[in-house]
Amino acid sequence: MTLSLSTEVTYLKGVGPQRAEALARRSILTVEDLLYNLPFRYEDRLRFTPISSVRPGEICTIQAEVADGNLLRFRGRRDAMYHLLVRDATGALHVKFFHGAYLEGRFHPGQRIVIHGKVEIDRLRPARIEMVNPQFEMLGASGGDSTEVGRIVPIYEAIGPLTPRVLRRIIHTALENLGAAIPDPLPAEIIERHALPSRAAALHAAHFPPPTEPLDRLNQFQTPAQQRLIFEEFFFFQLGLALRRRRQQVEPGIAFRVRDDRIREALKRVLPFKPTAAQKRVLAEIAADLERPTPMNRLLQGDVGSGKTIVALEAAVIVIENGYQVALMAPTEILAVQHFLAARRILGGAGYTVELLVSGMKPAARREALERVRSGEAHIVVGTHALIEDPVEFRKLGLAVIDEQHRFGVLQRKRLREKGASPDVLVMTATPIPRTLALTLYGDLDLSVIDEMPPGRGPLKTAWRSEEDLAGVWEFVRGELRAGRQAYVVYPVVEESKQELKAAIEQYERLSRLVFAECKIGLLHGRLASEEKDRVMEEFRAGRIQMLVATTVIEVGVDVPNATVMVIEHAERFGIAQLHQLRGRIGRGREKSYCILVAPRDLEGEGRERLETLVRTANGAEISEADLKLRGPGEFFGTAQHGAPALRVASLLRDHDLLEQARQEAFALVADDARAPELERLLASVDPNWQRRYELARVG
Ligand code: ADP
Ligand code: MG
Repeated sequence: MTLSLSTEVTYLKGVGPQRAEALARRSILTVEDLLYNLPFRYEDRLRFTPISSVRPGEICTIQAEVADGNLLRFRGRRDAMYHLLVRDATGALHVKFFHGAYLEGRFHPGQRIVIHGKVEIDRLRPARIEMVNPQFEMLGASGGDSTEVGRIVPIYEAIGPLTPRVLRRIIHTALENLGAAIPDPLPAEIIERHALPSRAAALHAAHFPPPTEPLDRLNQFQTPAQQRLIFEEFFFFQLGLALRRRRQQVEPGIAFRVRDDRIREALKRVLPFKPTAAQKRVLAEIAADLERPTPMNRLLQGDVGSGKTIVALEAAVIVIENGYQVALMAPTEILAVQHFLAARRILGGAGYTVELLVSGMKPAARREALERVRSGEAHIVVGTHALIEDPVEFRKLGLAVIDEQHRFGVLQRKRLREKGASPDVLVMTATPIPRTLALTLYGDLDLSVIDEMPPGRGPLKTAWRSEEDLAGVWEFVRGELRAGRQAYVVYPVVEESKQELKAAIEQYERLSRLVFAECKIGLLHGRLASEEKDRVMEEFRAGRIQMLVATTVIEVGVDVPNATVMVIEHAERFGIAQLHQLRGRIGRGREKSYCILVAPRDLEGEGRERLETLVRTANGAEISEADLKLRGPGEFFGTAQHGAPALRVASLLRDHDLLEQARQEAFALVADDARAPELERLLASVDPNWQRRYELARVG
């Protein structure tokens, strides 16, 4: 039969039921899937290094013959080492495989083999050089064919029983049989503008590069063939986002009046301070959305303390002055109350009616609040998820603001939106999201960024201390408290599990009785009744409580400028983004602030890097890039919930630039109304499931 990209892999020579099953487990079902499984590395087997000229410290590839091999067991040790001696025309080399029992019986004298790895000096016999745990591949008996030696060789990750060598054969055969029967879905004008190779040429060269291709460029995925495949993947993903967004924009929404002296006056009246340049720019972006007759869908990103609230409240003023209502939804009661107080202070003074809706309210108060929302008497309603419950009815909802949006599920956001008729939606987040990821995850949202802090903030210093240092840490805290400031002590009780909670409560008791007997200390955690939480927060805000021992319930929004110290115990148990959020509670006033991360001194690996990053920088963008690198895009947000694409070729970490280019091209094409239907057909032919795939990524 003649092959095409959609042919199932089972029809390929060399793929039987067992291999097909292993491939299927990796979602490789068709020839196309197989071809988009690119090598993760390339090896130069045009030029092997003769054994006589290998040098310690170098990574090299050697073609040799097996001379001898045996398994060495050591008395009193369970593992064994496999020792292999290989030889070429110029000399012999020792190769060691630790935990090598699995290799027994696999090597035979005379066998041809390629070995790739780092050359080292034998620690016990310094005159001898060796390779330890190198990669290796046996060459075929035929004396080696064109896929294995005498060329730049692609190295694939093994897939079950399919070794790199088997994959190489199968892919090579598939490419030979396909020939030029690989259609190119990229629009011709884009291929031309970016001088891209055709898809057929790119696939051939990405798997079996010509000998002229520099090896380092290949291994950095920088060759034209690889870049073209990466671009293609990003392009179709962004095309889907662009098409979705276009559909949203033809939905009718509310065109608010913005350019109006009365409204300008109202905006000025409520402003409690001079906005920063970033706040002004972002408000202008939002105002332009409000004015447009299509629903706003905007993500407002700004580091903790950058001043998102006032921007949201200014947007609210525009909407209220147009005769509509505003809903502001926050993920926790503490935060909702905080927003409510801010809104009442800022908007209430200008004569707007501000309402609070949380689940812990008394029935009578709740009934009255609901009535004011329904009648339209309430201009702005602040609340938790209580806002989206059934009995809540707005008279005329024009704007839905969602704070810390990643804490809400897609459905909750949709329900808030449905409380009105195509209201504008503004989602706010303090979670630093690298631009690359934002473009991918929230690519159908417009993005506004507040990248500047309000003036008059004292510097924030972060230090790493261990538990043995705690006595000194408490002394330091005492000094700050004596100077009239306040402190937080935070415990990693994330899910409010009973046992962890107990540890926090015990520490609270210990601190208040033994360490800080002279001070007033409060305790705050998620299991307290809401009146109790409010009371504690209020006392802390008013300065009657000097120190607050808390779980991560204080992570978002809590704003007490006089608090200048935060001690985070067991900091190693938190993620980097969460620690950054937490410390955003301090550094809000003019005084210098201190964040003390308490964690084992000998922490290693990723944990160590997390804490060192936080000590080094307080810049949200830098933190988010580090977080993305440490955790990888998949875990960054939880892929499933956010519909992050499963990328086959491209990497969000490595390929920022191509993502931006692909996005620009895709959005530019879709901007031309006449072409949209044709582009939808094109995308459907590349990815029949595209609509479903983006459903998850949508916010609101
Ligand atoms: P976040 O972005 O974390 O929600 P907030 O909106 O809570 O930040 O603002 C943090 C603090 O900074 C608040 O006390 C707020 O009143 C203050 N603030 C915001 N913008 C300015 C500004 N332009 N000038 C002075 N203070 C500001
Ligand atoms: Mg906030």
